[in-house]
Amino acid sequence: AKSKGKSAYERFAPEMKEVSHERLQIESRLRRALELDEFDLYFQPIVETASGHLIGAEALIRWNSPTMGLMMPDKFIPLAEETGLIIPIGEWVIRQACAAARQWQETTGLKLSIAVNVSPRQFRDPSFVDAVSRALIEQRLDPVCLELEITERLILDNTIETADILRRLDEMGVRLSVDDFGTGYSALSYLKSYPFDTLKIDKSFIRDVMIEPGDAALVRAIINMAHSLGLQVIAEGVEEEAQTHFLQAHGCDYAQGYFYSRPASADSFVAWIRSNHR
Ligand code: C2E
Ligand code: CA
Ligand code: CA
Ligand code: CA
Repeated sequence: AKSKGKSAYERFAPEMKEVSHERLQIESRLRRALELDEFDLYFQPIVETASGHLIGAEALIRWNSPTMGLMMPDKFIPLAEETGLIIPIGEWVIRQACAAARQWQETTGLKLSIAVNVSPRQFRDPSFVDAVSRALIEQRLDPVCLELEITERLILDNTIETADILRRLDEMGVRLSVDDFGTGYSALSYLKSYPFDTLKIDKSFIRDVMIEPGDAALVRAIINMAHSLGLQVIAEGVEEEAQTHFLQAHGCDYAQGYFYSRPASADSFVAWIRSNHR
């Protein structure tokens, strides 16, 4: 049998080598990206649905690679997660985000908050809670102005460890939100045992909320359930005015989406505040 053709290893080896070579290349570029300051934070406003008032923004990372152009997070966050680079990158994001929020507060006099995405590996890293605490102290940001967005998937993946980290963050006074709500395994019991403040309804439910009665029913149900549990609700992916009226009518607290603004550079975001809220 040995003499018949190549072994499985030999047949797959060249391909594997290629894949790992490409990955190593992106990985080394990712590593350099942090040193060369190629990352950028974009900000997307979050507004109070009833009044239209700005309450803060979500920070969204971008990578301006001189060789590969503008890279969106879906293209490199998974690799950063696999390689562990998400830990230094994530720390950079939190520090920058806190600094930005603090700066807007000073220039506008509004107590704006900043929401930051946290990926699973970053969340479970033993240094995470301390890194958050350090960023708040260094940037002199009130913890209540920092909201950490954690996906439903992460919450459902783990138990004791997750509960302990969430408890420590809650005690620090930062706000905790469930991101992409409704796309996980819909085991809702975690909502009453963990110290969350906010649910972010996934944009896939908002997209067709005006044309799909099923989506409309789900959005209404999520808002009511969240409020019964003492949680606030943010609808993401709001693109049309009609959707804002629907959300307003059903008591959704906050909204975010292209209807208000696309994610914008720090300068454009400040200009947006000036033109909309002064
Ligand atoms: P997400 O947390 O669900 O962020 C919302 C995404 O929806 C953003 O994509 C945003 O640009 C987009 N979006 C906002 N409004 C609308 C709208 O009205 N319609 C539509 N169709 N899309 C809208 P983006 O910036 O490409 O980010 C993609 C994902 O990458 C994020 O999804 C988040 O999971 C991840 N991500 C972004 N920044 C970071 C970061 O700093 N750290 C980590 N760990 N993940 C990040
Ligand atoms: Ca998010
Ligand atoms: Ca809390
Ligand atoms: Ca989301």
